[in-house]
Amino acid sequence: MILVLLGAPGAGKGTLAAEMCSSFKLKHISTGDMLRQNMREETALGIKARSFVDAGKLVPDALIIEMVRERISMPDCKEGCLLDGFPRTAAQAEALGAIAHVDMVLYLEVETDALVKRISGRRVCEGCGAVYHISWHDGDVCPKCGAKLLVRDDDKPETVLRRIEVYNQNTEPLIGYYREKGLLRTVDGSGTPEEVFAAVRGIMEKRV
Ligand code: AMP
Repeated sequence: MILVLLGAPGAGKGTLAAEMCSSFKLKHISTGDMLRQNMREETALGIKARSFVDAGKLVPDALIIEMVRERISMPDCKEGCLLDGFPRTAAQAEALGAIAHVDMVLYLEVETDALVKRISGRRVCEGCGAVYHISWHDGDVCPKCGAKLLVRDDDKPETVLRRIEVYNQNTEPLIGYYREKGLLRTVDGSGTPEEVFAAVRGIMEKRV
């Protein structure tokens, strides 16, 4: 099963994905996490991607499509995977359709004002990648692994608005694209992580 999580930066895709993957048998494939790991390890891909990511721009389609093609062909994706942050452009959506059969697209809907608030309070663990918000976890250490919590470079205010603009221009049209294919399920993403997950659980249970 291939599920796609669609939503603006800060809509809560990462938090929801972590919950879904631990409850359903899905592998979490986050293109943002993969790029950040490549950047930390200074791989050829990481070096090419850094200037785009740091500026809040999209990494070129060809690089991303190849990265995802390789990743979803790995054995740990056999049972199914949850794509978080991919596709983000029409070209990526077309490429995904040619590589794999998409079963469902969950669109996490959140208003722009709320996105900015959420992103500005987001903290990410430098050790395990867990995501927190200062409104419900105010410490600077990860309760899961003890590593430091940081503000992502591209979560800084000057980059956030650019990312939302990039989303509106390139990714929002995919909502219509998947709606036309009959694959889209819209979820109100404005609630707490528990409320959002409960809504998604309802959708998932209706499917099986
Ligand atoms: P995310 O963690 O999903 O918010 O992604 C962080 C950044 O990684 C984005 O702002 C882009 O620069 C880059 N990125 C992640 N996924 C993609 C994608 N599918 N296409 C292009 N760039 C991406």
